[in-house]
Amino acid sequence: MSTAVSVDAVVDRALLDRLTDRVVARPRADRAVTVAPFSGTPLAEVPLSTTDDVATAFAAARDAQRWWAARPVAERARIIGHVHDLVLDRRGEIADLVQAEAGKARRDAFEEIADVALAARYVAVRGPRVLRERRRLGLLPGLTRAIEGHRPKGVVGVISPWNYPLTLAISDCLPAFVAGNGVVHKPDSQAMLTALLARSIAIEAGLPEALWQIVSGDGPVIGGAVVEHADYVSFTGSTATGRVIAARLGERLVGASLELGGKNPMLVLDDADLDRAAEAAVRACFSNAGQLCMSMERLYVAAPLREPFLERFLGRVESMRVGAAFDYSCDMGSLMSQEQLDKVRAHVDDAVAKGARVLTGGRARPDLGPWFHEPTVLDGVRPGMLAADAETFGPVVSVYPVTSDDEAIELANDTPYGLNASVWTSNLRRGVDVARRLRSGVVNVNEGYTAAWGSHDLPIGGMGASGLGRRHGREGILRYTEPQAIAVQRVHNIA
Ligand code: NAD
Repeated sequence: MSTAVSVDAVVDRALLDRLTDRVVARPRADRAVTVAPFSGTPLAEVPLSTTDDVATAFAAARDAQRWWAARPVAERARIIGHVHDLVLDRRGEIADLVQAEAGKARRDAFEEIADVALAARYVAVRGPRVLRERRRLGLLPGLTRAIEGHRPKGVVGVISPWNYPLTLAISDCLPAFVAGNGVVHKPDSQAMLTALLARSIAIEAGLPEALWQIVSGDGPVIGGAVVEHADYVSFTGSTATGRVIAARLGERLVGASLELGGKNPMLVLDDADLDRAAEAAVRACFSNAGQLCMSMERLYVAAPLREPFLERFLGRVESMRVGAAFDYSCDMGSLMSQEQLDKVRAHVDDAVAKGARVLTGGRARPDLGPWFHEPTVLDGVRPGMLAADAETFGPVVSVYPVTSDDEAIELANDTPYGLNASVWTSNLRRGVDVARRLRSGVVNVNEGYTAAWGSHDLPIGGMGASGLGRRHGREGILRYTEPQAIAVQRVHNIA
């Protein structure tokens, strides 16, 4: 276990000042303090927008969007290609800020950087092809031709949480830009600095400044104002907030993609490679300290493999190094806030009070920093416990023995959520058969949690309470467009 380091030693104060100046807010705006989770000390002051500022941001983005939409898609894609290069060039500086602001381990910060580089590359290379007009067969007699095109929505509202501040900024905004849209983005106030850095990199790459506006402030007030003005909303966050936004957008008849919570299952079938499954489960359950929508919180293990699996898994979990470090000497960082720590404690305490057993971990670690918590594995968790029924969004996983594939599938599907799942077997056909029976938008076979997400060429999103719509792949770009059908008749048929 490692001890806390100085956040001040790695953050560039001048850069933070330059970034915070870019929030759309009146000159003498109120300010919110962002805090470094490693130490609990203030990191920067961010100006708070008003609802008038949100209106101003939309007006400026609309002006820029009219010009931008008229640019050739190849030109838009070229700028996004430069974002890819700049992100890689500036990876050290970005990783420092992501860690300082979100309290992540170095490896988790670099996972974000690799992800956004892939996202930018996918959008730059595949965007023009996805958006190309398609000639369709005109089946009506006399129809000269029919064209299927994609028009931009206009100005999109992007509302994101704090857990993946770089990924959620880049992965949702770049596809909107390649499709010819402007964006008004409201990141969570706890992690705005990374979003501001992502925007500044896009502008350095050639994106018009006014096209990507960033506003800050209270979710219901400022996020609510974004929802009032937007031509489409890409929302990532809790299921409860997603429902509120969907209801309002329903009244306005405006579309949205809603990327919400999960209670993701990992299924270790009776022919699984135990070493690989146990190794993968560590990252699947504890990367980003479990504060990840795709994170595994339920482990269903074939009963005969339970003991050998646990021996391997618990050994690896117990060797994890938890702490604050701006190098690779720690495997797991801090939780984001006191609120996150309280929620994790509530889930563990409730499970233990109702008869569950802590197999490893189970304690907060104030000696490492204010919001650290041990990676925790629970046994004997049953329905009626918070850890069984609700998303923990922290480093807590429950292990359940199962006696057949059918039982594993039935229990895995016994949740309102359906975001991500992982299946382990040495028989790929069996793995894919099980995957098809899981009610989950994403399933990884013989991979922990990110194979499907990381490919960028697959639609990613949830079923049921995990959301609506998809990001990544063709769908991730086309959601930001209005399909348009153009049917062309020969002139003499009309006359
Ligand atoms: P949250 O819903 O509280 O907040 C998310 C964002 O919405 C923030 O920017 C917040 O200010 C804003 N907001 C809050 N109320 C609003 C309102 N009424 N109108 C408009 N905007 C509003 O979510 P959180 O608890 O901060 O984030 C964690 C949740 O996000 C978890 O449930 C997690 O699973 C989910 N998540 C999902 C994905 C995914 O891709 N499915 C990715 C990351 C996180």
